[in-house]
Amino acid sequence: SLQQPEGDQLPRYVRVNTLKTTVEDAIDYFKREGFSYLGQAYRLDDLNLKGKSFVGDLHLSDLLVFSPKTDFHDHNLYKAGHIILQDKASCLPAYLLNPPTGSHVLDACAAPGNKTSHLAAIMKNKGRLFAFDLDAKRLSTMSTLLLRAGVTCQQLANQDFLKVDPDGPQYKDVEYILLDPSCSGSGMVCLRDEASPSQNEQDKRRLQALAAFQLHCLNHALRFPRLQRVVYSTCSIHTEENEQVVAACLLQNPGFRLVPLLLQWPERGLAPLTKCLRASTTKTLTHGFFVALLERHTAERLEEQ
Ligand code: SAM
Repeated sequence: SLQQPEGDQLPRYVRVNTLKTTVEDAIDYFKREGFSYLGQAYRLDDLNLKGKSFVGDLHLSDLLVFSPKTDFHDHNLYKAGHIILQDKASCLPAYLLNPPTGSHVLDACAAPGNKTSHLAAIMKNKGRLFAFDLDAKRLSTMSTLLLRAGVTCQQLANQDFLKVDPDGPQYKDVEYILLDPSCSGSGMVCLRDEASPSQNEQDKRRLQALAAFQLHCLNHALRFPRLQRVVYSTCSIHTEENEQVVAACLLQNPGFRLVPLLLQWPERGLAPLTKCLRASTTKTLTHGFFVALLERHTAERLEEQ
C-alpha cells in the first residue's frame, strides 16, 4: 500500500563489528569517502536520510544508519568484516540478551550467523559460544561469515537443537540462550505477498506447525540447568508465532518470567505481553520483528512478588 515502505525504502543499517574496529573509526572511514555524518539520531524521523548522509542510531550504539538503497556489498569495510549489513530489528536479540564477557552462551538456530557474530562482539570473543543449525549448507556459509568477522569463541555444530542434551557436561555453565528459530518470515518486507487478509487453510496449518516447533524449541531451551536468560525472536508478524508462543511457554514454565524491554522503544508486543517488543516498517523503520526476553526467577525474586 502507499503508507507501507517497501524493503528498498527502509534505511540501510550498518552494524559496526567491534571485534575488528570501533564506531569512531568506521565513521571516519565513511567521512573520508564523502559521506556526511550528521551525528547521533534523537528521533525516529532522523533516520529518514537522503543521499550520502548518515547518522548514529538512536537505540543501538554500534549501529550506523544510511539512506535507503545505499549498497555496501562491495565495500572494503564489508569485505574485511568491519561492518555487518544487518537490519536494525535483527540486532535487538543479541543486544538485549547482553551476555557478559567470559559467559557460556548458546545460539540454538544460528545460521547464517549474524546474531552469533553480534553475540561474540558483545562477549569480546571471551567465553564460549555454542552454535547449532540443522542445515549444513547454511552452516558452511556461517563459518565463512564468522571467519571474516574475526569470531573465535564459537563452537559450531550441524545438529538439531531439539536433540541437544541440556544435561551434557559441556553445557553445564550455559546461562544465556539466543533462540531465533525458523518462522514464516512474514515480517520480511521483500517476502510479503500481495495483501492476503484471509489466510487459507494451508497457511493456517503451516503457521500452527511452525508455532508448535517454536514452542518446543523454547521449552527445550529452558531445560538447560544453569540457564538465566533466553531471548526469543522471529521475523514474523503473526501473533501465533510470537505472543502466543511466549504466553504458552510461560504457562508451562512458572519458574520463568518476562523481562520488560527498552521502555523507549516505540512498538510493544500485543497486550498483555507488552514487555516484549515488536518492530515494523511504519513504527520502527525496520522489517517486521518480535523479541521476548525470559529470565529465571531466583528464590529471592519469588519472595519479592
Ligand atoms: N539466527 C540466524 C541469524 O541471525 O543469522 C537466523 C536463523 S533462521 C531464522 C532459522 C535457522 O534455524 C535456519 O538456519 C534453520 O536451518 C535452522 N533450524 C531449523 N530447525 C532447526 C533445528 N531443529 N535445530 C537447529 N537449527 C534449526
